[in-house]
Amino acid sequence: MYSRVCLLTLAAVLVCAAQCAPLTKKNISQQEALQWVRYTVPLPKSIKISGQIIVPRGAVRIVPSPGQSVLLKQAAKELADAFGGNAPSSKAAFTVRFQLGGAEADALKKLKNSDQAYKITTFLKKAGELRLIALTPNGLYYAAKTLQQLVRGRSTPSSIRIPVLEVTDWPDMAQRGLWGADNYEHLKWLGDRKMNIMEQISAIGVDAQGKPFAAVRPDRMPLVTEAPLYGIEFAPVILHLEQVGRLGVFEHYPEFKGKTEHPGALCYSQPGVADMIAEWMVQLASVPGVKTLDCWLTENMHGQPGCQCDKCKNEKWQLLEVRTVLKAWEKAKQKLGRYFTLRVTTSEATEPENKAIFAELPPDVQVTYYHSLLTYNNRRMQIIPSYVVEEAKKGRWMGVIPNFCSHTGYWEPFTGASFVHYRLNEFVDKGLKILVGYVTPGVNYYRFNTEAAAEWSWNAKGRSPREFAISYAVRYDIKNPEKFADWCEVIGEVAWDVYGSHWLYGEKTGHPGKAADLLKKGELPELGSVLWDAFPAPWGNIKDEARLNADVQAAAKALKLAKELGYQLAVEESLVVDGTIRALKALYELRKIVRPTGIAPEHKPAAERLFREYIAGLKQARDVLPRWEKMVRNPNWPTTYEDRVTEILDGMISEMKNTAAELGVNL
Ligand SMILES: [Zn+2]
Repeated sequence: MYSRVCLLTLAAVLVCAAQCAPLTKKNISQQEALQWVRYTVPLPKSIKISGQIIVPRGAVRIVPSPGQSVLLKQAAKELADAFGGNAPSSKAAFTVRFQLGGAEADALKKLKNSDQAYKITTFLKKAGELRLIALTPNGLYYAAKTLQQLVRGRSTPSSIRIPVLEVTDWPDMAQRGLWGADNYEHLKWLGDRKMNIMEQISAIGVDAQGKPFAAVRPDRMPLVTEAPLYGIEFAPVILHLEQVGRLGVFEHYPEFKGKTEHPGALCYSQPGVADMIAEWMVQLASVPGVKTLDCWLTENMHGQPGCQCDKCKNEKWQLLEVRTVLKAWEKAKQKLGRYFTLRVTTSEATEPENKAIFAELPPDVQVTYYHSLLTYNNRRMQIIPSYVVEEAKKGRWMGVIPNFCSHTGYWEPFTGASFVHYRLNEFVDKGLKILVGYVTPGVNYYRFNTEAAAEWSWNAKGRSPREFAISYAVRYDIKNPEKFADWCEVIGEVAWDVYGSHWLYGEKTGHPGKAADLLKKGELPELGSVLWDAFPAPWGNIKDEARLNADVQAAAKALKLAKELGYQLAVEESLVVDGTIRALKALYELRKIVRPTGIAPEHKPAAERLFREYIAGLKQARDVLPRWEKMVRNPNWPTTYEDRVTEILDGMISEMKNTAAELGVNL
């Protein structure tokens, strides 16, 4: 994809207009240009670096376009930081000029998401000048980001290296971001990667006087105060509607409680329910900067029907619910006297009626597709159903809430370039406009995958997973980027197999059951088997024995590469993946010799070795996880998260010891 990185070898000597030293454009080699572009993230759609100009720190003048845009002021400030100050015109050796609109910007109008598109072009005729051109402040802000990344990548404490370049760039997906976890603590970092949408669940409920309240939690206020500086829109979330009853709602309005066994279901025939949601919407839409609210439809009815009162029982509860949300939206807009965008998020509970829900929605209502078993999913499978694609084709803004962590409730290190690349390419190919990713418990646990999501939601066809890994190593100053990419390629595939198999998380779900029990009963499924298309444990993401064996070898290779790299995070991750895949392989081999009737005497020695291997593998992962967490966790956080994982591992180890003993194998 570097065919677009044009490598001109023109020499040019320029004299700057101000009373400064002659400005010299230096040629750079093909390799140097390629290396320089690696400092950008995401990779611009088209970038050609033909040389560089070196000026003293503090000698670049920034000429912003007029106006009061917060974003333009921030762009100028960030650029000045990168250049070591904004030079007065008398001392400027080089100029960076913002251009909002104008004839040169017209060509951007035909690009997708043109409101975020930009050009950077170089003028070297008189004084040196880079011009940042866009149709909106957002576009200019992104032009400034790209330039900063390049300048910071190669400048020294005394000199600034300015690329002589031509860039044209625009994003594939209109909205790119995260919901939940600690996104509000990483806004600058996320904005630097051109993410532009963040969501968080709001503090909502009914107060002691029976009045609905809705607000941003105080610790999340950076989403209101800081996010606009980085071009990030904050969209508050109204929690899944079957989970709001306990927030003082049923206490004050017992009539809102649906007539069904489900403790949280609402009765949508009570007109007060729409009034309450409308009041939440009014309060949240009044938060400064808020233009969009995301209302999460009911997530899980646990097999119960919706309200069975006389008015509700003859209609699908999903349709009653969405009609209530739409009614609330209309009331809220009326009360506010202005428009705001409504986004609704689907779930596994709405899935059977999603098409009917879409049919109820006006065209300007956005939808994020979520399903806890399908979009929170690390399996090698496409996760966007065709009816969602059809809806996107009709022009509705459609999005998705996928996870980029090892699992949303079970955290192990995961550097998954090919996994994230695969997901984002599916989303872009299927015409989705909104990415609301989920990385829990925190961004820093999965910084690589989060950055990869920013990369490919902007430019899905740009960098390959390998090239992204190399560029990541360059940006983070990891020694030997090629070897880091070797490691990423190897670990990413085997970790994808492990986490996509819910190995080890599946132990908690009860489906298909605990490994030690299944082994004993002779009920371990076949490789590649996924129970009810939803529960892949223990090896549903591994298609056959050859792949399992290849995974074991890959993990060992990854560990070797990580040690050679001397990159401790990679070493810890490799140890976890190596331990867990070795345990899985031992389980698979045990499956061949353990019968419900026991183990044949001739297989006892092999069984003993395999039980030991299983336990040693899990123990290796178990011992590493707290060390890994210490490297990625915010030390100010009151809690750790690995305890939940190591507890499962301890349980698995002791259960397998018991199984071995019951089968007459003495460990
Ligand atoms: Zn009802």
